[in-house]
Amino acid sequence: MWVDHPHLGGCFTYRVPQEWDPQPGDVLSVPFGQQMAGAVALGWRSDLPEGVDPQSIRDIEAVVAKGILPSEFWPLLQQVADYYLTPLAQVVRTVLPPGLLNRSQRRIRLLATTSGDPGACSPAAQKVLQLLQARGGDLAWRYLQHQVPNAAGALRELQQQGWVESHWQESGGGKLKTQQAASLADPSPEGLSPSQQKALQCLQQAGGELLLTDWATKAGVSRAVLQGLARKGRVHLYERPLLRLETGGATAPQDPPKPLTTAQTKAVQAILAALGQAQRFLLHGVTGSGKTEVYLQVIAQVLQRGGSALVLVPEIGLTPQLTDRFRARLGSRVWVYHSGLSDGERYDTWRQMLSPGPQVVIGTRSAVFAPLSQLGVIVLDEEHDDSFKQDQPQPCYHARQVAEWRAELAGCPLVLGSATPAVETYAAHLQAPQQWIRLPLPDRIPQQGIPATLPHLELVDMRQELAAGNWTVLSRRLRQALQQTLDKGEQAILFVPRRGHSTFVLCRSCGVVLMCSHCDVSLTFHQLGQDLRCHYCGARRPHPQRCPECGSPYLKHFGSGTQKVVEVLQQHWPDLSILRYDSDATRRKGSHRDLLEQFRRGEAQVLVGTQMLTKGLDIPQVTLVGVMAADGLLHQSDYRAGERSFQLLTQVAGRAGRGSLPGQAIIQTYLPEHPILAAVLAQDYESFLQAELKQRQEGGYPPYRALLLMRLSSPRLEPLERYCTQVAERLQGIPGELLGPGPAQVERVSGRYRWQILLKQDPNCPWDRSQLAVQLRTAIGHPPQGIRVSLDVDPLRIL
Ligand code: ADP
Ligand code: ZN
Ligand code: ZN
Repeated sequence: MWVDHPHLGGCFTYRVPQEWDPQPGDVLSVPFGQQMAGAVALGWRSDLPEGVDPQSIRDIEAVVAKGILPSEFWPLLQQVADYYLTPLAQVVRTVLPPGLLNRSQRRIRLLATTSGDPGACSPAAQKVLQLLQARGGDLAWRYLQHQVPNAAGALRELQQQGWVESHWQESGGGKLKTQQAASLADPSPEGLSPSQQKALQCLQQAGGELLLTDWATKAGVSRAVLQGLARKGRVHLYERPLLRLETGGATAPQDPPKPLTTAQTKAVQAILAALGQAQRFLLHGVTGSGKTEVYLQVIAQVLQRGGSALVLVPEIGLTPQLTDRFRARLGSRVWVYHSGLSDGERYDTWRQMLSPGPQVVIGTRSAVFAPLSQLGVIVLDEEHDDSFKQDQPQPCYHARQVAEWRAELAGCPLVLGSATPAVETYAAHLQAPQQWIRLPLPDRIPQQGIPATLPHLELVDMRQELAAGNWTVLSRRLRQALQQTLDKGEQAILFVPRRGHSTFVLCRSCGVVLMCSHCDVSLTFHQLGQDLRCHYCGARRPHPQRCPECGSPYLKHFGSGTQKVVEVLQQHWPDLSILRYDSDATRRKGSHRDLLEQFRRGEAQVLVGTQMLTKGLDIPQVTLVGVMAADGLLHQSDYRAGERSFQLLTQVAGRAGRGSLPGQAIIQTYLPEHPILAAVLAQDYESFLQAELKQRQEGGYPPYRALLLMRLSSPRLEPLERYCTQVAERLQGIPGELLGPGPAQVERVSGRYRWQILLKQDPNCPWDRSQLAVQLRTAIGHPPQGIRVSLDVDPLRIL
């Protein structure tokens, strides 16, 4: 058997003694060096890996937990491993709840069920039994090993005879408590007593799942009645762990389904008609057009048919709000799974997801691997969002791609929702409208009887501000609008686009951005060399003193932060209450929610924040949205700068006026004639898309080219350059186009130099994955000491 030790970081081969029958995904206990370690079974192998001495192969000690990874998961994980050119073990490690093995402790538990005679056991086994009996029936394996010589032999004996079992328990987390719960299996009333019928009806009305105690109370029957139903196969009884789950604060109020608009009805019906099929949908509607209501009504149906639903969202900050809404509608079977949870919470949620019965999981990227069986639908909300892609470590998967495979394997619909679909998604729809069915939600839902309109958008030309002697980051127009908003007692959001560490250089007099003369990208100012560089071709030039177009000395490095905006606001309005919402301010756990709640309660008048604000934040009192410098988005030196800007600006403008109050959005820019801004202003996705596709085709980028980025890094520059050149040379024969090697945009991070090599390929004759993997492995060889190599398939950023 082939086994992965997550904390030892590698794959090892073990023999399996006859008494065990591990399956891939089971958690094992295996000897490693002098100790026993937790491990995950990856698969069977009939031959030894090359160069391994058969004498060195050891036996697994025990199968500790079965079914942590459901078997139907395996093809999906293999697909992720193949496509993202990542060893299967590493994929498994990404998927499993963190700390499952490293921080867990093996324990031995006495079983009550045996009727054997302990006197027939070996002395060591008797000693183990005595210890267990004397100390509550559940002890750490490590303790027993200390107390009893040859404890391993004794344990094997006791396990075989059914005296004890071993289990893993998270250390420090306390024992996992469980409670009995029931889930509906068959609602037909035939052959049931009146009280059983009544109980079954009650369970059905509660959504098909209840804790046994709650059920007995609600139905007003005794537990014996319920157990009778279980014996007749009408319900499943199971142990539901009492979870350390995020329950979302106060209990959410009930929220009945809303009568749907015509467009919503069409969407819901189309998706429901496709249940049981791997059909892909693009739910295309602006913010406030009722997409979430569509998800909710589809999922309610899926649950009723005994299926589960997976809902993926971009950011943790968004999850609480959405979770509240889902719980208010769908009841308590809604779990949250994301990286902001503690290891214990993630583990508990994982266990819960493994339990039978319909449930809903809302989570971020990694929740695409939620181990739900009976998947009835997968939803990706804000599907265009970059945070669905993992940058590092490998596998650099995109949750949308994995969700597509999952939907395919589970035979369930996939619903991608967005106001501004990813260019790839929309292009897929245009190319195959039957495989990617577009469901438009063209209008906002009226609020409190007032027809909802999209916010009024306007651009402010910052060049004129400068000409008029206003040197601050706040234009006169935005300042005036802000004053009016405050006078009316309404709230405003100021959005500060922020982008990495590096900056582009812009002339404050004529708006020109310094560009590479060989490529269609802006030059980047490098802190390290104090010069300007192109990240596509590697060209360098010294930082000019004056603008090459108009000779103005007012060149500006872009990258103004939230802190600076807060300062300017305080100068103008000393008494203004301001909240900052960025990754610094929200790093503390749960503070996303706190900050937004504070703002929603009106405790601050202005919220100043970064990209995070673009997510489905819905605050009725916000009537003004200001974008401090749209240029910060437009001039990123990246092929997706246009797409990202369009998406961000459209989303952020959509924050204004979601309540019954009309909204306005003011976008400050040094380049109001930019075509992307024109498309944002016209709120015209199609025209943006057509222009964008044309550029992608000309530049050779997705969806016209498939990309593979090799990232290489080292604490020392010179050996890295040399090695990069060697790798590139060895890759020469590879099909497609090879670009680089060259430095990454931020060349040094935490003391490491970063270089990269880009491969481009025609997506219509895609890479033969296995052949590619071999070629890459050969080219990478054994990197010199200190050099790390990672592969990003379909990179979103090639900087
Ligand atoms: P989106 O997810 O597209 O931003 P939502 O589903 O959140 O849109 O809907 C926006 C608002 O309109 C929410 O407050 C929601 O409760 C409400 N809403 C959605 N659909 C309807 C409907 N059919 N009738 C009345 N209100 C609705
Ligand atoms: Zn100029
Ligand atoms: Zn260039």
